Amino acid sequence: MSVCVVGAGISGLSIAFHLLERDLGPVTLYERTAIGAGASGIQPGGVRQQWGTRANCLMAKESYAYYRAFGERFDPCGYLFLADEEETLARLEAGLAVQHELDIPSRLLTPAEAADVVPGLEPAGALGAAWCAEDGYFARPQAIVEGFAEKVGARGGRIELTGVLRIARDGGGWLLDLSSGLSVSTDVVVVAAGAESRALVAPLGFDLPIVEEPRTLFLSEPIRERLLEPLVIAIDRGIAAKQLADGRVLASDLRGEGDPATEQDRWRRRIHEQLDQLLPVLQFVAFPIVATGSYDMTPDGQPIVDALAEGLWVAAGFSGHGFMVAPSTGKLVADGIANSPLPEWHKALRADRFGLRPPEAEAQVI
Ligand SMILES: Cc1cc2nc3c(=O)[nH]c(=O)nc-3n(C[C@H](O)[C@H](O)[C@H](O)COP(=O)(O)OP(=O)(O)OC[C@H]3O[C@@H](n4cnc5c(N)ncnc54)[C@H](O)[C@@H]3O)c2cc1C
Repeated sequence: MSVCVVGAGISGLSIAFHLLERDLGPVTLYERTAIGAGASGIQPGGVRQQWGTRANCLMAKESYAYYRAFGERFDPCGYLFLADEEETLARLEAGLAVQHELDIPSRLLTPAEAADVVPGLEPAGALGAAWCAEDGYFARPQAIVEGFAEKVGARGGRIELTGVLRIARDGGGWLLDLSSGLSVSTDVVVVAAGAESRALVAPLGFDLPIVEEPRTLFLSEPIRERLLEPLVIAIDRGIAAKQLADGRVLASDLRGEGDPATEQDRWRRRIHEQLDQLLPVLQFVAFPIVATGSYDMTPDGQPIVDALAEGLWVAAGFSGHGFMVAPSTGKLVADGIANSPLPEWHKALRADRFGLRPPEAEAQVI
């Protein structure tokens, strides 16, 4: 059986690798720009198991175990979600209940306990926090993307740098028109092209509710002194901050909307105002570097990983956490194509969940 995968981001690469592991037949990846040219090349390597839905928790947990054995340096620095409002704290508690059913070692902290796990945190105004010490960051996130690409090559997979312009039915299989001018036939096609997956499958009659949301990260120059190990997400203040392994401090305005070219100074100012109160240890850190990408969001913050038709799969809509669930995504799609049974939680990722019933929405997208 021949399989073509569209998109060489972390999702497409993991899918290709898991297919090759099963030895089902030739696998070719088509990438329009370069390996990791999309969101996979921007993400800073955050991996966490604290999620609010069962499917997200299980994908993250399975992927966490896989990543710990990947052979790249991972720092379990912990993720702290801080709540200032009752409603936010209640949402975190609901998430913790889901996580505890799945043996994820997260816990609820008082503001004083939060200040203990995050030295330098000023918890005034906070009501409580959710914390998981196992959550953390890869020191070199791009090494994971490259590592998957190497594994694909080592198993005989091909990565072609050409775009896919059109996917059409071709008897029992599929025909891909490429930007190189060639057309290729394949038994199975997997669309893992981020937000652009929507436009690729729309002409086939599938309307995936995936929209692009721009996200901006602010980064300092590398700082030798260690100032902030855990990732702190102050939900009600709309900011997040963490010092990366290379010494750069990362910060983001979770409410930042608009064009980074014109709005970045406003976002940077708001980050400083909030950090001065919450993490005064960062008050002299400047954020001269701006990295902009986008999330491919679904209405419920969970990805769409499903067969839309016989031999046509999609894996997109990762809503800001596709890197940390990529091992599970690859396994799921490869199992589906191999006709192996899929886990019961796969139904939460099906394309037909929208409009059929109220989806269980993920409340912990940051
Ligand atoms: C600022 C930011 C921070 C983030 N932080 C984290 C984090 O800490 N942890 C985490 O887990 N996730 C994080 N994410 C989300 C994560 O980066 C994405 O969910 C993940 O990279 C998605 O991978 P993907 O392979 O599905 O898509 P992408 O990486 O976007 O890859 C899609 C690929 O398809 C290609 N393509 C598109 N159209 C075509 C076509 N027609 N033909 C051929 N190729 C095509 C693109 O060039 C691209 O290379 C972050 C994202 C952003 C923007």
